[in-house]
Amino acid sequence: MTDADTTTYAYLCIGCPLGCRLEVDEDNHGDIIEIRGSSCRKGDRYAQQEHTDPRRSVTTTVAISGGIWPRLPVKTSGEIPKDQVLAACEELRRVRVQAPVKMGDVLLDDLLGTGCAVIATRDMPEIDSSAVRAVEPVHR
Ligand code: SF4
Repeated sequence: MTDADTTTYAYLCIGCPLGCRLEVDEDNHGDIIEIRGSSCRKGDRYAQQEHTDPRRSVTTTVAISGGIWPRLPVKTSGEIPKDQVLAACEELRRVRVQAPVKMGDVLLDDLLGTGCAVIATRDMPEIDSSAVRAVEPVHR
């Protein structure tokens, strides 16, 4: 919503299940004039952050060789700028790590210069290749 001097932006607070509907009024210089709709200070902080510098954690998987599963669950160590999430996913699509991996291992130090690391969120032991039995095709 806009009038001559003010633009109002709407956000949904994700700080708790109440899901308060937040409104941020911005003047024509891009400064926040007022935040409405929050039921607590956490909502005000969320609205300010979401309006000026929206950020997201990234949770996904990367390829892994020699593990008991072909994909390793990972997450960023913190929130990265929202407009870099797609690029981060593209970057992680190109990553392949080698088993074994321990939960909490740092796989990348600084994802796209965001200052956030990429860490494993589970153990991934090496597959025991001696336990894998070759299966003969069945001919009928
Ligand atoms: S403003 Fe406060 S009460 Fe409302 S959803 Fe956010 S955290 Fe919950």
